[in-house]
Amino acid sequence: MLEPFTREEKIRILNTLGVDIPADSKLLDSILEKRLCAALDAAQYKDRLPASMNIKTLRPWPMIESGQGGTTSTRPRPLAKAVQRRTLADARQAGPSLPAAENEETMAIGNPFEDFRRTIRAIARVLDKGGRWCLLRDDSEDRNKIMFRFIAILEVTKNLPLFVVLYQAADQETQGSTEDWVLEQLKTDPPSSSPALSNISSSPLEQKMILKVLKQNSSLVPTDYEVDRQPLEAHFKVSMLIPVGPLEYEAVSKLNNNMGCSVCGKSGGYRCKGCQSVSYCSAECQRTDWADHKAACRSLKDATWRTARLSAASPGKENTTLTLVNRHTSMSLPGAQGSAPMTKQFFLSDGLVHPDVYGGDMFLAKMQLQTAAQRGRGHIMLYDRRMTFVAFLREDKDREVFREFVEEMQGPRGYMGVRMHRWVKRTGNWELSVCLDREPATDVKW
Ligand SMILES: [Zn+2]
Ligand SMILES: [Zn+2]
Repeated sequence: MLEPFTREEKIRILNTLGVDIPADSKLLDSILEKRLCAALDAAQYKDRLPASMNIKTLRPWPMIESGQGGTTSTRPRPLAKAVQRRTLADARQAGPSLPAAENEETMAIGNPFEDFRRTIRAIARVLDKGGRWCLLRDDSEDRNKIMFRFIAILEVTKNLPLFVVLYQAADQETQGSTEDWVLEQLKTDPPSSSPALSNISSSPLEQKMILKVLKQNSSLVPTDYEVDRQPLEAHFKVSMLIPVGPLEYEAVSKLNNNMGCSVCGKSGGYRCKGCQSVSYCSAECQRTDWADHKAACRSLKDATWRTARLSAASPGKENTTLTLVNRHTSMSLPGAQGSAPMTKQFFLSDGLVHPDVYGGDMFLAKMQLQTAAQRGRGHIMLYDRRMTFVAFLREDKDREVFREFVEEMQGPRGYMGVRMHRWVKRTGNWELSVCLDREPATDVKW
């Protein structure tokens, strides 16, 4: 059987969902678990389901007649299209072009969440071809499998199908019964096109994630929901699969916020009175942290804070894509030593707001002056080390503040007259409060 999730795996899945929890996070296990459950629910947009939804009263997904060469068959209204979920987050990461969906490979790519989306699309294609079962399998080791038989396709709305499934996870020890079950399916419900269609490749981590989702979703199936089981399915469980997509802005912000006490991870604390930049659960944790924190805290005393109103793009670059490359340890994949390069693409549009992953806490921003050939068209690019936020302070939009920032960069606390690192706080979608006249006392790693 698949092992339970490790802490590292939970964080990795949260990271692939856009929840930026560092690998060395101190969040308590119970809080981490809660975030994972909430993130998986958010990826299925479960808050859009009717509050008192009863799957026994939902309409079946419409079937349509399709005829070819004299034979007609009944197929679901195309599901492959209906399960596509694409939000602003996709555009933010990949730009405006859609990935080709029709002839997609079903190979796992190693990002458990993207693999899960791909698996849902592959399942939709099985159903579109008239199939009623499939087998998820780990191609690399051929050890872990999940058997699925589709009991019902239900329609919540025109673009929201739900799949009621009977499922069972299997491993090497239960290999025999898996083969028997597959043979039974091939006999009673042979795949109409290619038999390979019903084999969907799925990594062990993706399978763990799917099993977790199925366990969570089983609460949506009433206990008296009746299912026709085949003889080999006595121990199969009933649950539901719901189309998945990237987390929406609100969900990402919510799940990234309230990271708890910066020493122990416990929630429900207060911020340091000196600087408001760190949170603690108790005086005890605050004392423990003081030796590390005091330099940063004292450096902010009586500082000048300026409000910078920002734009998503520099002049003339609206609605283009910007790629940032950075080295940052906490986003690196498990196993990687030291810092790993990290690349992130931003689609530069005021309509695409960056999720607030700092929840009002201070964070370090790097500011880089770009002088323009044209007078009055200069700008300063600002971004954070975790690359969750990038924005531009434009000379043509706020000449006064722009000039003040350039003067600071060109003064003794700037670097070569074109760069500086400063503590900032998010005060709006496109607004930061910047601690202008203090160099960060911490060692700035970028
Ligand atoms: Zn604490
Ligand atoms: Zn402080």
